[in-house]
Amino acid sequence: MGKLVASDLIAAIEDYAPLALKEGNDPTGFQIGRRDKSVERVLVTLDVRPETVQEAIEQNVDFIFAHHPVMFRPAQNLDLSDPQNQMYADLLTHDITVYAAHTNLDKTNGGMNDWLAEALQLNDVQPFNITDYQPLIKLVVFVPESHAEQMRIALNQAGAGHIGDYQACSFSTTGTGRFQPTEAANPYSGQAGKLEAVTEVKIEVMLPAVMQAQVIQAMLAAHPYEEPVYAVIPLANQQQPIGIGRIGQVAQSMTVRDYAQFVCETFDLTGLRLISNDPDKMVQTVAVVGGDGGKFFPAAVQAGADVYITGDVYYHTGHDMLAAGLSVIDPGHHVESIVKDKMTQVFEKWAKQRGWSATFIKSQQKTDPFTFIFNAK
Ligand SMILES: [Zn+2]
Repeated sequence: MGKLVASDLIAAIEDYAPLALKEGNDPTGFQIGRRDKSVERVLVTLDVRPETVQEAIEQNVDFIFAHHPVMFRPAQNLDLSDPQNQMYADLLTHDITVYAAHTNLDKTNGGMNDWLAEALQLNDVQPFNITDYQPLIKLVVFVPESHAEQMRIALNQAGAGHIGDYQACSFSTTGTGRFQPTEAANPYSGQAGKLEAVTEVKIEVMLPAVMQAQVIQAMLAAHPYEEPVYAVIPLANQQQPIGIGRIGQVAQSMTVRDYAQFVCETFDLTGLRLISNDPDKMVQTVAVVGGDGGKFFPAAVQAGADVYITGDVYYHTGHDMLAAGLSVIDPGHHVESIVKDKMTQVFEKWAKQRGWSATFIKSQQKTDPFTFIFNAK
């Protein structure tokens, strides 16, 4: 097992959720501490609050991964009577490095809004409010015939070969591979100084360029050769659209009112806010942007959503949504706490693939500032 350094973990996160995808002035990315910090224990959280930092200290954590950036309102001074400033001081005193992936994680494939769409059991999920196009690449790898099936499985599991509604897409051709090991080699087959000819399979798969590092790593792990031969080819014919939100079809059509109830149950909420002129309308197409996505509602209308799910809807924006004939479900911003489960799973997968000896801990703090009080009368 290898030692993990903060900069390696950050590089992996930025491969997964490239900084180039961030919205406007979002202060996403590196927050506090040292990039050369050795990392054994990582806390995964939605928010970094004073209680989260206390938890990190108690848990002996070296690195905090958060969805929300820590310094939304930059400090004007470092007067430690301010709890927010004391929190920065606690992080520095305990040498804890903090990193946040925000709107880039919202947009990226397999990020926040895909997790929410998955939790909502949406089908045919596509991005909406398209702002970027991500290039695709082709990986070509040559393996001995005996290892072709295991290689195809490894490539698929690492995220290659997903095209639209199809997965495990690949193309294989069989041919003859030739090589001559030198005296310095430790060949899987063949002898030093003797030209070898073996039956090999050429496997070709497509993948998003951002997945290159993880797929190559999986390919090398599944390959029996000392020096695997492979090629990475940029593709000009196809690109993957990237948008902040996701839109998809409900498994079973139901009324807006029933769908609101379903959202309550899905995210284990005490209640939510419904904005709708017609709660008895049937729902087929649902758009979602976790967090504060009120400003994206025209894009949800344009994309054909019957219902738009987003948090923090502002009073006057609610009027505009009604005027546009859109039904909106506001389940609150805290549904994004799904990041704790999902990002922990992603980190654990990377640790296994890359041989990192690190422990990933989900924060137990509930950082939703809101509580519902029901009228008892
Ligand atoms: Zn958020």
